[in-house]
Amino acid sequence: MFEKNLTRREMLTLGAALAVSPLLLPGDAAAARRTSTTTTTLTTEEKNDLIFMREEEKLARDVYLTLHDIWGTPVFANIAVSEQQHMDAILNLLNTYKLPDPTAGKLVGEFVNAELQALYDELIARGKQSALDALLVGGIIEETDIEDLQAAMATSRLSNIDKVYANLLNGSYNHLRAFASNITALTGEPYVAQVVSQDVVDAILGA
Ligand code: ZN
Ligand code: ZN
Repeated sequence: MFEKNLTRREMLTLGAALAVSPLLLPGDAAAARRTSTTTTTLTTEEKNDLIFMREEEKLARDVYLTLHDIWGTPVFANIAVSEQQHMDAILNLLNTYKLPDPTAGKLVGEFVNAELQALYDELIARGKQSALDALLVGGIIEETDIEDLQAAMATSRLSNIDKVYANLLNGSYNHLRAFASNITALTGEPYVAQVVSQDVVDAILGA
């Protein structure tokens, strides 16, 4: 049942999906295939993606808030505001589908998902090292978001969910451009891709 080349996001959600694997009756399976909007029952994968993206947007916000405290670089404060809006957009969908909010009661830097917690800790440790490292961490987060949002859009069957993911994706493109131009201003060198391919990054930065 394990396919090759699972993305990082798929590996993160796989454990949860196996743990709550629902007993689908034939009628339920037919219902799950229908693609009307808010009345549709989400698949386990669609639910896990929404819950995961809520925490991944929190990771972005929390890293930028923390790195702004350390370095005072304006780009972190500006983008943290945008990440809060991304978190809010996913929360609306969690509420629509009556899904639990993984960030409820969590402080800055606190995560339910152990992999996101480890990633947060690693990115903060890196971002503390220098102003350039902090900006590079911003690039890592945005490239990771782009990869995960595209995967979630490919999984989702629902246009109202895809629309939210597309808005977040556009935000991530803008954020990557902002970090890349800040990095180039410091180094004098073009931005080098850190997570996705250089072709993908070049297409985003060239747009
Ligand atoms: Zn975002
Ligand atoms: Zn972003």
